[in-house]
Amino acid sequence: MSERKLKFDTLQLHAGQVPDPATGARAVPIYQTTSFVFKDFEQAKAISSVEEFGFDYTRITNPTNEVLENRIAALEGGSGALAVASGSAATAYSILNITHAGEEVVAAKTLYGGSFNLFTNTLPKHGVKTTLVDPIDTENFRRAINDKTRAVFVETIGNPDINVVDFEAVARIAHDNGIPLIVDNTFGTPYLFRPFDYGANISVHSATKYIGGHGTSIGGLIVDGGNFDWSNGKFPDFTTPDPAYSGFVHWDRWGNYPGLGNIAYIIKVRLHYLRDFGACMSPFNAFLFLQGLETLSFRLERQVASAHKIAEYLEGHPQVEWVSYPGLKSSPYYALAQKYLPKGPGAILTFGIKGGLERAKRFIESMTIFSFLANVGDSKSLVVHPATVTHGQLTEAEQLLAGVKPEQIRFSVGTEDVEDLLWDIEQAFQRTGT
Ligand SMILES: *Cc1c(COP(=O)(O)O)cnc(C)c1O
Repeated sequence: MSERKLKFDTLQLHAGQVPDPATGARAVPIYQTTSFVFKDFEQAKAISSVEEFGFDYTRITNPTNEVLENRIAALEGGSGALAVASGSAATAYSILNITHAGEEVVAAKTLYGGSFNLFTNTLPKHGVKTTLVDPIDTENFRRAINDKTRAVFVETIGNPDINVVDFEAVARIAHDNGIPLIVDNTFGTPYLFRPFDYGANISVHSATKYIGGHGTSIGGLIVDGGNFDWSNGKFPDFTTPDPAYSGFVHWDRWGNYPGLGNIAYIIKVRLHYLRDFGACMSPFNAFLFLQGLETLSFRLERQVASAHKIAEYLEGHPQVEWVSYPGLKSSPYYALAQKYLPKGPGAILTFGIKGGLERAKRFIESMTIFSFLANVGDSKSLVVHPATVTHGQLTEAEQLLAGVKPEQIRFSVGTEDVEDLLWDIEQAFQRTGT
């Protein structure tokens, strides 16, 4: 198998796994155990001090989680990955791993509501400040970066504006300044978008969404592109002795690890932030995410095609003010989506309903197949009102900044028959007609 470069549909079933060496089990076993028996004293010492990779305690490593980590790394072309308890934990750890109090981040202002709060309210309390910029002009990133900036953060398909950034241009600006580009690839998924092919250095995911795909579990992933030089002087945590691990130097140990390459970032985030903050993924959830991954490409092909049909339908609808979906030729992000997301710009779209907030409320409550809830990426179609739910904690000014509008409705298109979905949309228009 190693001689052939396997394709996505094969990797999503096989990467990172050999049938269980103990039993031959074909499915990935759920290693629902807190801890692992050491063979002897020597091994206990070697694993505990990370002289050797192995399993000791499930907060830090677990064989079920490891298959998921290796599979995601293979699908995105990264050097390694880390599974954590939620997408929010993944985002927070991805930043904490490379910032200290007094340092800064530059992020696109079009962010998931939780990430918006993390950057504007929570991280500043710990001394890490974020400047939010309008990503429509890439040079805004360059203008916002200063000597203290340690990362640039964007989403693959912004939320709730459904915008696409010029990844290569943003990556170039980050690298000109000796800092990494972190991409939240939740809406992109490894199938539609491979961030490292376009210069990103770290990707994070809410596995809760498309990776799980069935709305059963909360989880997150961090993937290391293995393509950033952490020894460039801006990240002394990587190049000075680590007092938490008997003084070894991360970059010396993991900067060019035999067979894996540059895994310094992903090892450090495991050894510092997963170990000390402890938001580990349950092995049972890792198992469910692996089940989801097996069909990721098939679900997305269907979901993208249906989202496109629905976007076109809405664009031609007399009761609709505007539609935001980068697959539409009328979208300002159409060209960027063609370049970066050739398999389709996801299955999430927003539109403005004529009649404003009042009509939006009645429309959402009238839907029968679409479920009104705060999630995306399920196989089931979902509808939400961003201004009330996903971005409801933001002030009015912050909502305006993030692109949240009162008449805005968001669909996450599932795998149902698209004719049924179009019927549901039309009956909701008719039941709330003016
Ligand atoms: C849901 C989501 C998150 C947060 O993930 P959780 O698993 O809910 O913690 C982060 N980013 C994006 C784009 C999301 O959709």
